[in-house]
Amino acid sequence: MNRDGARKSIWQEEIKKFSLEPALEKHYDVAIVGAGITGISAAIRLQKEGQKCIVLEAANIGFGTTGGTTAHLNDFFDTTYAQAIKDFGLNNAKLLKYVGIEAKNIIRNNIREFNIDCDFESKTAYLFALDEKQEKQLEDIVKGASQVGHQMTFTNEIPFPFSFKKAAVIPNQGQFHPIKYIRSLAKAFISMGGMLVEDCVCEGHDEQEKSVILESSKGNVSASHVIYATHIPPGVSILHLMNAPYRSYAIAFSLKGDHYSKDLGYDLTDPYHYYRIQEVNGENLLIAGGEDHKTGHTEDTGECFSKLENYVREHFEVDTAVYSWSSQYYEPTDGLPYIGVLPGCKNIYTATGFRGNGMIFGTIASQILGDLILTGSSKYKELFDPGRIKPMAGFTNFVKEQASVVLDFVKDKLFIEKINSLTELTEGEAKVVRYEGESYAVYKDSGGKIHLVKSTCPHMKCEVRWNSAEISWDCPCHGSRFNVNGKMLTGPTVKDLHRIEL
Ligand SMILES: Cc1cc2nc3c(=O)[nH]c(=O)nc-3n(C[C@H](O)[C@H](O)[C@H](O)COP(=O)(O)OP(=O)(O)OC[C@H]3O[C@@H](n4cnc5c(N)ncnc54)[C@H](O)[C@@H]3O)c2cc1C
Repeated sequence: MNRDGARKSIWQEEIKKFSLEPALEKHYDVAIVGAGITGISAAIRLQKEGQKCIVLEAANIGFGTTGGTTAHLNDFFDTTYAQAIKDFGLNNAKLLKYVGIEAKNIIRNNIREFNIDCDFESKTAYLFALDEKQEKQLEDIVKGASQVGHQMTFTNEIPFPFSFKKAAVIPNQGQFHPIKYIRSLAKAFISMGGMLVEDCVCEGHDEQEKSVILESSKGNVSASHVIYATHIPPGVSILHLMNAPYRSYAIAFSLKGDHYSKDLGYDLTDPYHYYRIQEVNGENLLIAGGEDHKTGHTEDTGECFSKLENYVREHFEVDTAVYSWSSQYYEPTDGLPYIGVLPGCKNIYTATGFRGNGMIFGTIASQILGDLILTGSSKYKELFDPGRIKPMAGFTNFVKEQASVVLDFVKDKLFIEKINSLTELTEGEAKVVRYEGESYAVYKDSGGKIHLVKSTCPHMKCEVRWNSAEISWDCPCHGSRFNVNGKMLTGPTVKDLHRIEL
């Protein structure tokens, strides 16, 4: 499994390990934790500028949400310009407009410079309102866009099979294959002398006067600067209170004929649905996405796929659902991402809270963090400053997660019988049960084998919940996720669930 879920995403054929075995050196200029679009984009930027960089990745490149995205490249965002004007003022909303333009330029330049074949295409996007409430919303969106000078105009026609109340067209958007893109960037980074270490969990840090010591599962690394490109910073941080984890669902369908628009489409339902075409192995597939919910807050995650599939089939003539997958994103409390110095630190940086726009925000983070490291300033510094929220006492230190012993062997027959009787699971089922004051997460696989872990998330002691769609235990508080044997899939945890071998 090269992604943080059991289902296969449309990009997954391209998600592979590099399987390098680099010897760690004593000191680096920049250590980057996480090899998704944010980490790899920052790595190439800084290595190109002559910095000696190392990337530490818990699994492999694209293991996180970059392997489960839908890879639209938009310069209009989930936080609309109208909302940004209201909450951050007109000048800041105007500045936000340049994020999309500049991020797309960075992507285009990288593609050109490193000769990357990643199915990049320029696209026209359509936003459409399906009822009166959405119509009003769309009017606000278009008005906000015009106030910041972003090109978005009303149109009477859309190339998608929906009867709509009102629609807007936005030129110069884009799409690409995110894994082909970051894999090629990673190759270029390595060929420039950059170091990539896979299967390497960063477990903590110690910030000293002039350097930071990163504690990792493959040994300590010292660096002048550290970037947490982990989608959400690991360990315990004030930012976990300011970002809520959400799951989003996507299905790629094979098509019946060739009468499908190749543009990008979005409705304005809450959560919204979106559509685009992607060619895979010579065949065009329709990607549709939506049905988002807070992580760990939906009883039956499998139902989200059924709802999405039924909705798509009501409107589009599609054939088979070839790929279906879900993935995680983070909703920042005030609508804009946090990109900059980690609150309470000096030379440790983070980039999080991207909502559904991380291809763009992850890319611009490479420019912002690169500029902050190289020059100490960036025109986006204040707008995205993670310090725009005030750190609370005790929240600035990295991880103090307790679960150091992760594997117990239980030989007590009574215990096993009790767990079995409490759960009475059929194959493929999972449950959380309490026994003698302890709480256990139990899963019976298709071969009848029981997988047992303690159900308390090592991050901040919340109880995990079952995600049947991705066969994982998900923490409803801060979004940490684990496989059925307790192995960490998604941060902010840096520890596994306590496993009990029966
Ligand atoms: C279904 C879905 C569709 C989306 N569609 C779009 C879209 O169309 N357009 C768009 O712009 N955005 C989209 N997004 C958002 C976008 O995909 C993400 O914001 C983006 O991929 C985040 O990239 P990242 O590199 O920051 O994080 P990730 O890709 O999650 O990478 C983080 C990496 O850090 C590693 N890691 C974590 N903790 C540690 C640790 N302690 N030590 C070492 N490594 C660690 C992980 O293994 C992972 O590989 C979508 C999101 C979802 C969920």
